[in-house]
Amino acid sequence: MEKNDLRSIRLWLFDMDGTLYLGERLFDFTKELLGRIRETGGQYLYLTNNSSKSVADYVRKMERLGIAAAEADFLTSAQATAWYLHAHHAGARLYVCGTASLQSELRAQGFPVVNDDPDSAECIVMGYDTELTYQKLLDVSRLLTERPELPYIATNPDLVCPTEFGFVPDCGSVCGMIKTATGRTPRIIGKPEPLMVQMAMERMGATRAQTAVVGDRIYTDVKSGLNAGAAGVLVMSGETTPEILAASPDRPDLVLSSAAEILDVLR
Ligand SMILES: [Mg+2]
Repeated sequence: MEKNDLRSIRLWLFDMDGTLYLGERLFDFTKELLGRIRETGGQYLYLTNNSSKSVADYVRKMERLGIAAAEADFLTSAQATAWYLHAHHAGARLYVCGTASLQSELRAQGFPVVNDDPDSAECIVMGYDTELTYQKLLDVSRLLTERPELPYIATNPDLVCPTEFGFVPDCGSVCGMIKTATGRTPRIIGKPEPLMVQMAMERMGATRAQTAVVGDRIYTDVKSGLNAGAAGVLVMSGETTPEILAASPDRPDLVLSSAAEILDVLR
């Protein structure tokens, strides 16, 4: 893919941290880029694997950074998980190893959350649980051991989440503890699986050829685009170093120094 081929993209699926901002600092091109996409008849969505926060939290964050946002601009791994559950386990009673925010989001989607009565669970959902307790690890381990047929899914496979001081364990690390204890691995919903990208294309009415995923991680953002048959665009404004890029088995369709280069093409 050449940079000028980006002119045929109608749906932009943006990763947020490392792509549009870094922590609490908005990149100087972001506001103009988002405005230009809509002015030129394009659409965009923010895609995030983080299932610990609600969409309302993300709207507040974007507004704090000076970007007007609506709930419809976001697609989170929690929403994708609800979509998957509707398709495969409609109405199932859930044991949720996730935040109160994730639990209420799934409840609002019509799924009873039965953490107080684990034995009645019909499906286990793992999220990025910043409110993790040992009781949850115990309940999940016991359910997976006693009932090997129980569907077991995870919102996202990320091992770590960046913070101000470095990294903290994310959903994938907790799933790793459970695998060590029980031998079970979950069905993954978020990036790099193609499901969120497919969902976004369906919601926005775009084809694969019209869609690009733009992010700073090859193994989640870019790969989800490639796995869905859309364009996978890597930006070097976040986590990926030239050394990581050189060593990666996955080749992005396009590598940009930052998403500012997209703005150049759309000008
Ligand atoms: Mg990122």
